[in-house]
Amino acid sequence: MLAPAFPSTRDSGLKRGSLPGHSGGTVPDFHRLPPIAIVWAEAYDSGDRVETVTNVRAGRSGPDACPGALRTHDAADGPLARVRTPGGAVTSAQLAVLGAAARELGLDVIELTSRGNMQVRGVRATERLAVLLANAGLLPSASHERVRNIVASPLGGRGPRGTLATDPLVAALDRRLCANPRLAGLPGRFLFAFDDGTGDIAALDADVAYGPAGFRLGGTPVDLAGGEDPVGTMLAAAGAFLDVRGDAWRLAEVPNGASVVAARLGRTVAGEGPVRAEGASPFAGVIEQRDGLVSLEVVPPLGRLSGAQAEVLAEVAGEVRVTPWRSVVLRDLAPGEVRATAERLAAAGFATDAASPWVGVTACTGSPGCARSRGDVQGEARGWVGGLDGAPETPVHWVGCERCCGTPRGPVVLKMVGGAER
Ligand code: SF4
Repeated sequence: MLAPAFPSTRDSGLKRGSLPGHSGGTVPDFHRLPPIAIVWAEAYDSGDRVETVTNVRAGRSGPDACPGALRTHDAADGPLARVRTPGGAVTSAQLAVLGAAARELGLDVIELTSRGNMQVRGVRATERLAVLLANAGLLPSASHERVRNIVASPLGGRGPRGTLATDPLVAALDRRLCANPRLAGLPGRFLFAFDDGTGDIAALDADVAYGPAGFRLGGTPVDLAGGEDPVGTMLAAAGAFLDVRGDAWRLAEVPNGASVVAARLGRTVAGEGPVRAEGASPFAGVIEQRDGLVSLEVVPPLGRLSGAQAEVLAEVAGEVRVTPWRSVVLRDLAPGEVRATAERLAAAGFATDAASPWVGVTACTGSPGCARSRGDVQGEARGWVGGLDGAPETPVHWVGCERCCGTPRGPVVLKMVGGAER
């Protein structure tokens, strides 16, 4: 029996509706933007900004400037260090290191990104942080740190629709990617993905994706050989992208990219273009696993953790999965222990129930972390959530300017700091 404190149980992992600004799932990736003007500059903020960059290829000059743990970004509130966590996997020991580092070396803020990574804001001692991360196993390859962009279904095959165990695939891809010197030259925006059959990750339109239904290149189903070694096939596809990319950062930026890459692997695309996939809806609460155990999904307000919150997570879980929708999943809990775990996390400030007003509300960095912001986005969003008595029906994303960084996939209401809405 599940604890009655969690009336909401995710049973399908799927959500309704379409992608923002999307005309039906067959348009190029750079059309997948909110219906607003986007202006690009070489600056970074709270999100991985998967979509924004693809809209401005004509104006780019030089390599991508994605931050990492070694190549930090000079944000308005100080150096920002992004830590890649393939598959969103972070161990208890790693959480403890990140929590202490955020508090002692930074601004006590850890942000969850739209690719399931974590980033520490305002780092005062970047070299010291790099040493701590390396010692914790969070920086296994200096040469490849910015290309370890691997997302995976957080339940890894345990959920009602999960039929593929993705954990071993993530580990193998990470290991073989880091062992391939040429692939260190991938753009920092290139994304690998594994969907366990749930469909939550397929919606991200990764450059190279694999799941029970086969391979996708930039969202386009492709009849690639390689069922015996999907990881090898994914790496070969990444290599083929390097062959043809020119100055492109994403496969969707290459004209007929899926076809071109497939052809270099001796295969053909299976359809006419990208196929829309459903994504994961915002959620907090218990998820039943097929093996009788349960997972607990919790939401840190606005996708931000304090050092202390990271340390509480470290105390209650041996390992967590950070999701691309900025929640955290604790897997393989006994039904009898989930209530106590949830109560501990709720006391630490996490939303643990789907009805929480924090579920479905996200925000960009805003002031003072971003010099472009028209105001204190985080503060205004927190004040707005304080007036809610439940989760918003449609997800809401707060922004400080028209760039709309970190806008989540799916139906979303955009709120501009200061009052504008669309
Ligand atoms: S203020 Fe604008 S540029 Fe800055 S993080 Fe928010 S949306 Fe991005």
